[in-house]
Amino acid sequence: MRAMSVFPKQREIRIVDVPVPMANHEHDVLVQVREVGICGTDREICDFHYGTPPDGSERLVLGHEALGEVVSVGPAVRTLKPGDLVALTVRRPCPDEECVACRAGRQDFCTTGDFLERGIKHADGFMTEFVVEHEHYLVRVPPTLAEVGVLIEPLTIAAKASVELEAIMRRYPWEPTGLRALVLGAGPIGLLGAMAAVSRNFQTFAYSLEAADSPRARLARSIGVEYISARDTPLDVLAAKIGPMDIIFEAVGSARVAFAALDALAPNGVCIFSGVPGGDKTIEVELDGIMRNIVLKNQVLFGTVNASRSAFEASVQKLEQFMTLFPEAVRGLITERARLEDAPALLHQPRGIKQVVAMAA
Ligand SMILES: [Zn+2]
Ligand SMILES: [Zn+2]
Repeated sequence: MRAMSVFPKQREIRIVDVPVPMANHEHDVLVQVREVGICGTDREICDFHYGTPPDGSERLVLGHEALGEVVSVGPAVRTLKPGDLVALTVRRPCPDEECVACRAGRQDFCTTGDFLERGIKHADGFMTEFVVEHEHYLVRVPPTLAEVGVLIEPLTIAAKASVELEAIMRRYPWEPTGLRALVLGAGPIGLLGAMAAVSRNFQTFAYSLEAADSPRARLARSIGVEYISARDTPLDVLAAKIGPMDIIFEAVGSARVAFAALDALAPNGVCIFSGVPGGDKTIEVELDGIMRNIVLKNQVLFGTVNASRSAFEASVQKLEQFMTLFPEAVRGLITERARLEDAPALLHQPRGIKQVVAMAA
């Protein structure tokens, strides 16, 4: 079968022929991959910034945002049956007996850093035809989400952030209402975050580089988000323009933007960082003022990385809710479906919003 493979040493990306994986555990499930999304992480792996092949191999099969269909199940599998659609989770626990997070099945909180990630770190990914996986790492997806289920993995970021946000908001002895949320960045993660905010009835704003009449801005407005283009509103006047925000969801991966936007964070506000800045440049930020606000205004800043099985389950629920509230906007996130043969070009040239490789095509 074919597999999109990265050879970091040779600095090459190509489709190679690999053996169909064999199920050899009673809890194993054979999955036929239907669709795989491409994101910035894949592009960085293809630029050889990171991405580590499995031990003993010189190639890494790419792809971590996958929707598949169960072909066959081992004799002990109880949660899935042939024909079921599944989202494939990405991170696998580290082997350290002392890592309480991994031992509790929460490898998203791993403390050793020795976890594996399929398609990213020491484990092959899903941009191939068949995958074998333990049932525990597969999450059932209802058939109604067949068309958009490939978005479940990227949505786990907002899904996990949402669970953590709720835990933080339990500190108020009142029911918070009329909350206002600002999303930084209108890429797939930002737009999915905006959908999550709207679905919780937050008055939602999105701030991003794209022009006010761009397709991303139109998509944001179609779900009731107020879109503000950085072309019209420089970062230093954003706070004055939109007023205090109870929640800020950062999805740009820029420390400069993230910290500057804190000006807009309300008293008792919560700011969530989800982007991963690539550089290590020195930037000037007025930290005294930021720290003063964090203390005097009870603000919370936290980072979140996906994702546990529970976040995938929450993501499935959210996506179902989005498909009831604004199905066209959800479908509109997937702007291109390509064949595996055409994936190398996509990996080097982002266009549209979310590009997807359709494995069966
Ligand atoms: Zn991704
Ligand atoms: Zn661990």
